Parts: sequence; structure tokens; C-alpha cells
Amino acid sequence: MRATPDAVAVVAGATELTYRQLDQRSNRLARALVRRGVRPETPVAVLLDRSADLVTALLAITKAGGAYVPLDSRFPQSRIDLILQEARVALVLTGDVLTALTEGETDASAVEVPNDQRQLAYVMYTSGSTGRPKGVAVTHRDVVGLACSPEWRRGGHERVLMHSPTAFDLSTYELWVPLLNGGTVVVAPPERLDLDLLQHTLGTHGVTGLWLTAGLFRLVAEERPGLLAGVREVWTGGDVVSPAAVARVLAACPGIEVVNGYGPTEATTLATSHPVHDLPENAATVPIGAPMANMRAYVLDDRLRPVPTGLVGELYLAGTGVARGYLGRAGLTAERFTADPYGPPGSRMYRTGDLARWAAGGTLEFAGRTDHQVKLRGLRIEPGEIEAILAASPGVAQAAVVAREDRPGDKRLVAYLVPAPGGAPEAARLAGRLRRELPDYMVPSAFVVLDALPLTANGKLDRAALPAPEYGATGAGRGPRTPREQLLCDLFAEALGREQVHIDDNFFDLGGHSLLAARLASRVRETLGLELGLRMLFEAPTVAGLSERLVMDDPADALDVVLPLRSTGTGTPLFCVHPGGGISWSYSGLLNHIGPQHPVYAIQARGLGRPEPLPASFEEMAADYADQIRKIQPQGPYLLLGWSAGGLIAHALACELRARGERTALLAVLDAYPVKDVRFEEAPVPTERDVLVGVLDVDPDELGDRDLTYAEVAEVLNRRGSALQGLTEQQIEVIVHIMINNAKLAVDFVPAEFDGDLLLFNSTLDREGNDAGPATWRPYIGGRIESHEITTRHNRMTEAGSLAQIGPVLAARLAEATGDTTGDTQSADVSRPSRTTHLPHPSDPSSPTRPTDQED
Ligand code: ADP
Repeated sequence: MRATPDAVAVVAGATELTYRQLDQRSNRLARALVRRGVRPETPVAVLLDRSADLVTALLAITKAGGAYVPLDSRFPQSRIDLILQEARVALVLTGDVLTALTEGETDASAVEVPNDQRQLAYVMYTSGSTGRPKGVAVTHRDVVGLACSPEWRRGGHERVLMHSPTAFDLSTYELWVPLLNGGTVVVAPPERLDLDLLQHTLGTHGVTGLWLTAGLFRLVAEERPGLLAGVREVWTGGDVVSPAAVARVLAACPGIEVVNGYGPTEATTLATSHPVHDLPENAATVPIGAPMANMRAYVLDDRLRPVPTGLVGELYLAGTGVARGYLGRAGLTAERFTADPYGPPGSRMYRTGDLARWAAGGTLEFAGRTDHQVKLRGLRIEPGEIEAILAASPGVAQAAVVAREDRPGDKRLVAYLVPAPGGAPEAARLAGRLRRELPDYMVPSAFVVLDALPLTANGKLDRAALPAPEYGATGAGRGPRTPREQLLCDLFAEALGREQVHIDDNFFDLGGHSLLAARLASRVRETLGLELGLRMLFEAPTVAGLSERLVMDDPADALDVVLPLRSTGTGTPLFCVHPGGGISWSYSGLLNHIGPQHPVYAIQARGLGRPEPLPASFEEMAADYADQIRKIQPQGPYLLLGWSAGGLIAHALACELRARGERTALLAVLDAYPVKDVRFEEAPVPTERDVLVGVLDVDPDELGDRDLTYAEVAEVLNRRGSALQGLTEQQIEVIVHIMINNAKLAVDFVPAEFDGDLLLFNSTLDREGNDAGPATWRPYIGGRIESHEITTRHNRMTEAGSLAQIGPVLAARLAEATGDTTGDTQSADVSRPSRTTHLPHPSDPSSPTRPTDQED
């Protein structure tokens, strides 16, 4: 402080405090605190948002001799009360209290108070297995031991990001490492950090060092590893660190130092560390490394004898950072903080409950827990604390809480309950009760009622036999009303690992949590080009709620001729022409595969959104669509795609654009073939009933001869939660007419010759050897025909499984067509023109190119 008075100590948004300013501010507050009766070790609770004031307050309490007790505003009141009571807090510093205290305080000189390194610096509360949180009491010596460790002097900790909640011990590193080494605390904005905000904060303030909890680190590594490119040292840990994530960050950020940091709150945040330099390929773990300076680590057996290298034992920590103990809990302290038989006389060690082994080379490897304590997103949880509350709830006889990882990287708490005789525990009520008493992250995502808890042969809970929960099986619910809602539903389902999500399903009720939310936000940005702030998701956690907020998604526009599926991106747009039914929503699945630089527009049939005459030929449609497209992209080269009838229309469109002097750089056709050359016995135009059967996607035989009404179809679609379920009877009727019209036009359509290449995707299921195939296109394509077999049915061509096959090829060809990069996808030339004399298999009545009532 005195060494570098003009250096910047704290940056928070636009606020900057030099060391001198911070010194003076904190002195004033310290004086006020002393006047309010703060003495050595007086606990002072802090309930402030991340801000420069928070830093000032923590420093002031320290200067006044008090011990800070950080609280989290997201804790329920009852937990805050419990902590205040346990710690016997007399003063809570909130924003208002802070202002009131410092008002009129002009003396900015240092306060003179007894100052002993053995005094308490802070008390941090962590989950306690017996149902009560326990306060870890940490002294000044402990903090100084950590902050003055030489690890921080490699040059990576000049500007350190402060983003962890103050109530958790990583804030010790984020606050004291920069302040005690003359660096700068860069205070992250108070709102929840998503990747965008994190990236922005790192970049704006030139952060050089930061801590990311293992889960967040993995998210960054998977979603945006380059985000860390400007950082010199990133520390991660708090939970098992993924070697793959470390490898990705190392690869994406040359020169960065990635360090695995390990330690419990009881040993002042970090006790061992491991800078990862050479991570063997396919490494199963990242070592937790060697003890930090001033710390010692022992791996002992149950008689406190060191176990040999390579064998697993329990990890004990000794040295400067070992905390004083648990505040006001002498018994608990004596259990975990014991005499250190290997240290200097009188020294103590902390029994971590962690299993570890010494690997060759003197590094430690983490090997799990001796008890049931779990880590969830870096937060420490004693299931016992949750079980105690559940077991005391009405209707519950027994409760067990475990953390399950049914999907890799997605750990969730699950509660198992045995009802008391006559009791019927209700998930919602129990969750409500827990939410009133515990922090949100300690509320299980699912509650499973069992007749009895499964037991092992020796009568212990058999954790392996506990069934996986079914997350809030949604059953009925409203389906998507627009393509964007459809895509959001898909992205919700993907993030949550579910089959299906309805538009009113709450993300968090279905097991969503902040890391999954961050992942969802980045997927939404990638696919839809929309900024979904985490805050928005917390405020409106349903697809319906989000689509209202995510600008202009009016269900009424969803049937317009031009439907922007993604209007952001500075690259060349892709235009996707509707299949026979005229609706193009199903192309939204393509957004997952096409780089975010390409805007994507769907072209839909005339007459869908409002009454209009239907076109009389594909050429007429092509001329109309060319006009529409040129309003968006006035000049070529164009990128066109079409499925089924849309493939034929896209071809016509490419010819139309050519006639207008414009080039089409990509013409992609999904399973469509010109049918004019095929001779029909009967007109291949489907009947109304065929079309309705096709809309419903059922086997015609199942329905027998029964007539279908529009009302019935609407009802079935609704019941199924189909993407088309928002349609009214009238709209279904319109679609049927459009389909029949397109089927007629397809028969009459004689393609012109398009002078470019064709990228063709053929469905392979339900096909027969003599069905129309790639060769039917030969006469109408001047360039190359590149043809790919897709394992799917014609009418499933735009479903996720098919698009997963189509997407990579399409993306590569798009990149080539626009000169982005070069794709390396294999291609198959269809060089020998030939004609088929048979029609495609009649699998899809919705496709005018596939008549239904024909037999080959
Ligand atoms: P911190 O916030 O420093 O992780 P906690 O007291 O919340 O401290 O949790 C400590 C526990 O977290 C450890 O006992 C261990 O089980 C786990 N842990 C911490 N760091 C690591 C790490 N790098 N690798 C594996 N587990 C870790």
C-alpha cells in the first residue's frame, strides 16, 4: 500500500481506486467500525454486491481488527440468520449501512489497533454433515501464508479477476493475492457471469490471472477456449479437473500457464498446486501437484502412517495455512484438526477427508473422498445437511441425497425418499422447503420416492442400486409455435439431456443449472445468432418466455414468404426453399450445422400466411422467390437449398437467377428428382386424404378406409406436441391445398439446364434399386453432380439424425462456395448420365415428387 500509492488497486467498471485512495477509504470505514465497537476478532458480516465498495469493506474490517463473515445475497434468509447467530454477528455491512457509517467520517489516517497475525481474518461457512453449516475460522497468518507464496510471483497475477462469490474461499485468492503483492483487483460486474461477460471483462481490463472452478473451466474449454488467450495464468480446481479441458485451453492459448489448484477452506483455499506443462495424451487425471510454499501434505493410512508412493491414503495438510478450526465447535475442530506427528512440535494438521496418492516425481493425485461430501460446480455440499432437513419433513421416514452424474459433466443432486406410514411426500413441497432453508445449489434437481432404500449386505445404503431419476416427466405441454421456438426447444432439450421440451417447461425445474445455462446461451448464440443473457434466462426460464424477449418472434410472422431463421451474420446468406407443404420451419435444424457467419432465410409458399392465389408453375414461383431473395441479397453469388419439391424449385430458382445474370455458387438439393421423364400410369397427384395422412406421418394402413377431417388432424398434432401443432384447422386445409398444387406442378415441371454444380443428398431408406436417383438430374446440370447417401427416409430428411449426416458436407461446400476455407469432405461424382424409368418409392405422400398411390 505504501510502496505503490499511485498504482491501481481496484478496478470495478468505471471506478478505479489507487492504493492511496483505497487506503484512505478503508481507513475511514475502519475508524467508523472501531467507533461502532469493532474490536479484535469482532465478527462483521458483509452482504454487498461485487464492487469497489466490497473490496474497501473487507479491507476496512481487517484494518479495524475485526473478522469478516461474508454472506451471499442468494442465500435464503433463514440460512443468513443461522450464520449470523452461529457467528454471533453484531453488525452486518450492507450498502446502506456502509453509506451511513462513513458519512461525515473525514479522518483517513490509519487506525491504531492491536495487530497480531494469530488474530482471525475471516469466518467462512461451509456445508456441515450434521445439518448445520460450519464456520471455518481463518487467521491473518493463514491468509498471508497463501498470498505471499512465491507461486504468485511468476508474473501472472498483476491483474486478478474477482468473480467468485465472497462467501466462498476462492475470494481469498482473488482479493488478497493482488492486494498483498501490489497488483490490481479487477472486480467483475455484479451480475451472473456468462461467457460473453467474462470475455468482455478479461479483455477490457487486461486480466492476467484468474481462478475458474473446474466446471466453469471445462465450459470455457469446450465452448470458447480462446477467451483465455490474453491471460497469463489460469488456475482451476475446487473439483476434479478435466485433462481434456486443460489440453484444449493449452492448445488454444499458446504461452498460457494452466495450474491445477487444490485445497479445502480449512487450509486457506489452496494447499497444493500443479502447473500443467506436459500433459500426456489421453491422460486420465490432472495431478494436484506439490504442496505450496509454507504447506506440507501427508498421505496416511488409518493409523496415521505414511503410505508408500503409488498407494491411496487419506490426505492430511499441515503448514501455515491450516485454519484455527470451526468457530464455536470445539468437538468438531478436535476431530479434524489434530496434532501433526511429522511437523515441528506443537504443529497441527488438517484431516481433509480426501483420498490421494503420491505419484512418481513427487506430485499428488486426487483419488476421491473418504466420505459422501460432494462438489457441485465447485461448491462443497454435505448431503447429510440436506438429508437432515428432508428427514424432518412431514410424510418422510427416510431420506438419502446423492450426487449423480448420469451424463458426463452434468452432476446433479438427487433425493431419495421413503414415505412415513400414510405419508405422501411431494417433490414441489419438499423443494420449496429446502429452498427456504438452503442455498439454491443444495436443492436436489429430482426427488424419487422409494418403498425402501436399497441396502448392501452389511446394511449400508447401496448407492449403486439407487435408480436414475426421471426428470420432471413433462407429458402434456404446448409445443413450439414458430421455428425459433422449435429450435429453442431442441436446444433446451440438448442442454438438459432430454428427449423433448415443451415451450412452458421451466429450464431450472428440469434440472438446469448455471453451467448448463451458460452452455445453452452459447448454443443459442451459435445457432440463432441471438444474445441470450443468463439474466434473461433466469427471468424467463421457458421457451415461450424467452421467445417473447428475444426480439420480434411473433407467431403470426411464422407463415410469411420470407422467414428469417437467423438474420445475424456478415457472410453470404443461405436461402432454403419450402418442400411441398409450403412450410419451411424444419430447416431451422440446419442452423446447428452452418457457421454463424451465414444468415439463413427460409422461403415459404404463397397462401400460407394469408389468402393468395397459388402459383401456376415452378417457374412462376422461382420468379417470385428471386424477387424476394434479391430484396435481402441484391447480388450473387447465391446459396440455395431445397428439400423435396423445394429441391426442384431451388433448381428453377437458380436458373431464374442465371437468366437475370446472377451466379448461384451453391445449389443443394435434399432428396428431390425431376419426375417429368418418368412415365406415369396414373396421375401421381396425391389426394387430400393422402396428404392428411402424410401430415400426420402415420402408416395409411393403420387408418383403414376412414376419412380424416382437418379437425382430427389438428387434434392429433396437438396431442403429439408436433412442431405443427399451433396450426388451426383452416391452416391445415390451406397446407393440404398447397401440397396438392405443388404435386401437380412437380409433374408438369421440366427443368431448364442449370450451368453450375449440384450438391445432392439422397435418402437411402425405403428406396428401391430402380427408384429415381441422382442420374435423373444429369440432363439438367451443366456442372458436376456430387451425390451423398444419407441413411434416412425421404420425409425425415430435415430431422436431427439426417442433418447430422448432411450438415458437415453442406458446411464444407458452403465454405468452398464462399471461399471461407476448404472442406475436405469426400465427394462422389455421378458421371454417367442415365435415365430411370421408375418412380421413387411411394413413401411420402407429403412429397409431390413421391406420389403415394402408386406401385412401381
Ligand atoms: P475450495 O473452494 O478451495 O475447493 P472447499 O472447502 O469448498 O474448497 O472444498 C474442498 C474440497 O474440494 C477438497 O477437499 C476436495 O475434495 C475438492 N477439491 C478442491 N480442489 C480440488 C482439485 N483441484 N481436484 C480435485 N478435488 C478438489
